[in-house]
Amino acid sequence: MVAAPLTPPSDSIEDQQVLRLQRLRLALVVYLPCALLLFVVERFGLLPQGFTLAWSAVVAVANLAFLGLIKSGANLRFADPSMTMAQMAVAIGAVALVLYHANEVRGALLMLLVVIVIFGVLQLNTRQLLMMGALAATAYAAVIGLLAVNRPAQTDLRVEWFQWIALTATLAVVCPLVGYLSGLRRRLSASLRTIREMAQHDALTGVFNRHHLVETLAREIARCERTSTTFLALMVDIDHFKRINDEHGHLAGDQVLSGVAQAIQASLRRSDYIARYGGEEFVVLLSPVSTPATGVACERLRAGIEQLAIEQPAALRVTVSIGATAYRPGDTQASLLERADAALYRAKSKGRNRVELDLAPPAA
Ligand code: GH3
Ligand code: MG
Ligand code: MG
Repeated sequence: MVAAPLTPPSDSIEDQQVLRLQRLRLALVVYLPCALLLFVVERFGLLPQGFTLAWSAVVAVANLAFLGLIKSGANLRFADPSMTMAQMAVAIGAVALVLYHANEVRGALLMLLVVIVIFGVLQLNTRQLLMMGALAATAYAAVIGLLAVNRPAQTDLRVEWFQWIALTATLAVVCPLVGYLSGLRRRLSASLRTIREMAQHDALTGVFNRHHLVETLAREIARCERTSTTFLALMVDIDHFKRINDEHGHLAGDQVLSGVAQAIQASLRRSDYIARYGGEEFVVLLSPVSTPATGVACERLRAGIEQLAIEQPAALRVTVSIGATAYRPGDTQASLLERADAALYRAKSKGRNRVELDLAPPAA
């Protein structure tokens, strides 16, 4: 198997699930210092005895439920499989529990609600962040309501409502700001994806470019050295291409180049690889097969191009010559491609539109 498949798997469901598990781990990393903080507050007598343990148990159960949903894939049935808002709502609930029980330090612990909203930068847009901000403000209002009913003697409602106004005002500034940053982050990662695509692909033919080929070959050679395996390298060159340019113009030449590249790519399997090496030359990497099967595969590639009709701008037909070799232990990129190139040269000198293999083991 060649290491770089034609379609990068970066957006696969599996990768997204891995990302969701990473985010859940990140949330746990934040819960942990929170529990530590509560433990210290409890030690100072500002939270009821045993509160931190009970709180940690509740938080652990809720997060284990999220973990179970992701591990089982049940989250994929939800409208938002990343469950960001649900996780934030649980965190807001957990902080509301703390606020209800933390009398003197309630004001200081309010900032935990702001921290939760900031986490939305990873996933949410401004509207969703405002919803989370409203939920946080409502949660604190509910805590104040419960305190007014259950512990009126220990609660100064004027202070609580002043704190509520301060929290709501803070959230009203922080939510849109975080929403803006979240949008910026999304746009930047989209631009990064585009830049990466452009840096890896040939603009004319759309197949991988030479820069990507160099990286792929380095990876493949390292893998073969490690695993004592091999792979096939084919140098494919369009025959008499200069004539096409001369007779039909450079634009027609471009169409032919593009058509040939697409045709080769379409005939390959997902694990195979094609890059434009330069000019009208392509390098194809294939999984190793027996010598006769390699001959058949190269012949199929050659015959496919011979059959190819490029309609635009005129009905054109082209042929290719192919030089093929296999990676041998000790090969460098240069030695491997030189061998493929020498085989290609032989194919050219024997009349073009043909395949030459160099699969013999190296001389001892
Ligand atoms: P051979 O059968 O020996 O390979 O002959 P050839 O004419 O294909 O090879 P040669 O190396 O003489 O010419 C290659 C031509 O490819 C010359 C160059 O102008 C053309 N070429 C290289 N890159 C491009 C491109 O991007 N677009 C177009 N239209 N032509 C290109
Ligand atoms: Mg040529
Ligand atoms: Mg050439």
